[in-house]
Amino acid sequence: MELKNYMEELVWSRLDEVMAAHQGVCRCEHCRYDVAALALNFLPTRYVVTEKGEIYTKLNTLEQQFDIDIVTAISRGVLIVKSRPRHDMAEKKPFEW
Ligand SMILES: [Zn+2]
Repeated sequence: MELKNYMEELVWSRLDEVMAAHQGVCRCEHCRYDVAALALNFLPTRYVVTEKGEIYTKLNTLEQQFDIDIVTAISRGVLIVKSRPRHDMAEKKPFEW
């Protein structure tokens, strides 16, 4: 048994698609992780106990419930990373805003 924030799965599942819809945002690994972190901070956490067979039902329910919020949160993250990309920073610090 394991605890997992399913919102994280959902954000990763839509991340590249939403980032591709925005022009001029860097899509290197560092920027993708920054967008994901920002998006997750805008969204509620949804912890689930993972057991085989149960995961996908929960994922689908959450996906439908939060889809618009997820896309909106990723877009907000994209705008922040686009204006302040941090991929050249020598020291990796948590995003401050
Ligand atoms: Zn980058």
